[in-house]
Amino acid sequence: MVYIKSSSEADKMRRAGKIVYGTFEALKPYVKAGVTTKELDTIAKEFILSQGAKPSFLNYNGFPASICASVNNVVIHGIPSSDKLKEGDIISLDIGAVIDGYHGDACRTFAVGNISDEAQKLIDVTKQSFYEGIKYARHGERLYTISAAIQEYVEKNGFSIVRNYCGHGIGKNLHEDPEIPNYGKAGHGIRLVKGMALAIEPMVNQGGFAINTLRDGWTVVTADGSLAAHYENTVLVTDGQPELLTDLQR
Ligand code: MG
Repeated sequence: MVYIKSSSEADKMRRAGKIVYGTFEALKPYVKAGVTTKELDTIAKEFILSQGAKPSFLNYNGFPASICASVNNVVIHGIPSSDKLKEGDIISLDIGAVIDGYHGDACRTFAVGNISDEAQKLIDVTKQSFYEGIKYARHGERLYTISAAIQEYVEKNGFSIVRNYCGHGIGKNLHEDPEIPNYGKAGHGIRLVKGMALAIEPMVNQGGFAINTLRDGWTVVTADGSLAAHYENTVLVTDGQPELLTDLQR
């Protein structure tokens, strides 16, 4: 069932989204060679708690940290650890926060120092694919028109879209209906309605779309060892432009 948010619920989601956005701002100066992903996790957790919110991911289905920190060939759900970032790495930081019962969820992929042109292209295409998708995140459009726009843009640029994981509705629950694949057929899927809140999150691999899960039960890696990037915002559907709840710059 897809929940339509009232304006007071949308306000609560704006608060959660603002905290997620602030967490990225707090983390940015620390994303560099030599920092451990555990240190990034601690900074994020302390910032979220300082805002009166809680990290949505901590203990979610048993996840052992406050953020997901996915380096290089890790697609999603990387567990923060004592491993240090190295010059030339890319890292996807996925952050969720819940306040007053409502969640915000977003992800960005960052460069660690100087990275290869190909890695930069992967980051840029992944981010832009999100923007290609949300052109259709409007009242009256069909859900899979978003999916198709993301897929088309990614594949046109020579990369592949992960199939096994999707975006999702969000609100009182971190994950709720609808499921939002990053591939599909335009003009299909449920009709979007003003007040839907969607976490749209293309996960893009440099090589093939196949993935594996490591023995820790969480870490999802590219099957071919190629790099992966991830971009996500929590988006509120309106009858005009979608509102990006986790990006205050737009
Ligand atoms: Mg998400």
